[in-house]
Amino acid sequence: MEPTTNIPITDALERELNPWLAAEARFDEAANRLGLDEGLAKVLRTPAKELTVHIPVQLDDGRLEVFTGYRVQHSIARGPAKGGVRYAPDVTLDEVRALAAWMTWKCAVVNIPFGGGKGGVVCDPRVLSDFELERITRRYTAEILPLIGPERDVPAPDMNTNEQTMAWIMDTYSMHVGRTVTAVVTGKPLDLGGSRGRPEATGRGCMIVAREALRMLGVEPASARVVIQGFGNVGGMAARLMSRAGYKIVSIIEVDGAVFNANGLDVAALAEHRRQTGSVVGFSAAEAIDPSTAMFLDCDVLMPAARENVVTSENAARIRARILCEGANGPTTPAADRILAANGVFVIPDILANAGGVTVSYFEWVQDRQGFFWNEDLVNQRLEEIMVENFGRVVDYAARHGVDNRIAAYMLALDRVAFAIKLRGIYA
Ligand code: NAD
Repeated sequence: MEPTTNIPITDALERELNPWLAAEARFDEAANRLGLDEGLAKVLRTPAKELTVHIPVQLDDGRLEVFTGYRVQHSIARGPAKGGVRYAPDVTLDEVRALAAWMTWKCAVVNIPFGGGKGGVVCDPRVLSDFELERITRRYTAEILPLIGPERDVPAPDMNTNEQTMAWIMDTYSMHVGRTVTAVVTGKPLDLGGSRGRPEATGRGCMIVAREALRMLGVEPASARVVIQGFGNVGGMAARLMSRAGYKIVSIIEVDGAVFNANGLDVAALAEHRRQTGSVVGFSAAEAIDPSTAMFLDCDVLMPAARENVVTSENAARIRARILCEGANGPTTPAADRILAANGVFVIPDILANAGGVTVSYFEWVQDRQGFFWNEDLVNQRLEEIMVENFGRVVDYAARHGVDNRIAAYMLALDRVAFAIKLRGIYA
């Protein structure tokens, strides 16, 4: 895990940046505050099932290669496991485990009837052809087939996988069971049972919770200044939708540069500039600013929507945003949480802020199972209801229990999953 500052890596910093330890720290604090029974805490922190597969795949040049893949189901207490599949050279079982647990809490925070799962294949998609990726995907699917299914475990895209990957998984599963089963994955192409509104869903969910937080703090959304890190799916969609709704997107920070306009960027023009040049750099209707300091601009909403560990103990004190809306997973370390709290920054934690994506995945699964598809307005309206309701619950819970929003979100989630386990009882 690379730190985002130029300071030397110390053991303490390395521990601070470890996502598994960060998730564990929050779990422990929430479990302690809930007074969760020790045995139940043990159940909740342990993944229910882990499968490692070694998949032989013939490469385009005729060579045979063996790839390793994983599927972890952290919990199915509240419904089928739900979670993405990522392709990357450095995927580990530990990482997949941590991400699967994260999905359990995220689905529980927004109260959708799913558990948590995650999968991955150790491979480098940059050096693989589409045919090779298809063969890897199909063989991986065949190997994890006993675990997945609309009522068991429903994969989705994650890092380096996309709609096409989901179409291959869906087809492979369907060939094995002898009928077309679109509900086995979400994030599919629209023509194969995907949902309207899914590509925008995570960014839209971020916009909704940011708007609720602004209202709470008495800031008119129309006069709010927003800084977004990451101009990809989440950040790009949030920027586009928020700019259309009248917010001033004053800065967009990308990996190779950042742009600033005090009056608000023309986001559609910036997106077109990036499409043509591959970068936000050189956009004429804005000032170029240093990407390493843009996060510390004075603003109403800062939305990290790029990657993990960007707000750490090394830089949290420099954040001048009133609201930190976590579009990315794990952008803030536990040590940074304490600094932000002391400085009165209102944090909308990742497991709530970016849950719009999995919420519309749930809608996709519902539509596939019904064979009846909703129009985009209905998708957006139902997403709005779920995000607003659960934002309110998290914030109320935080106030009632005297904890920050993140711990409140974890407490709510743990409580919901623990309650389901207690109701079901332990099968033996
Ligand atoms: P993406 O690849 O579409 O976009 C990420 C963008 O961030 C890219 O444009 C990249 O160039 C930029 N970036 C990378 N490192 C950066 C840095 N250090 N500074 C500035 N910009 C940087 O990915 P995405 O799907 O938008 O996901 C972003 C984050 O949101 C991830 O943490 C992901 O796990 C999380 N997330 C995504 C979804 C979803 O539906 N896509 C749902 C929930 C959470």
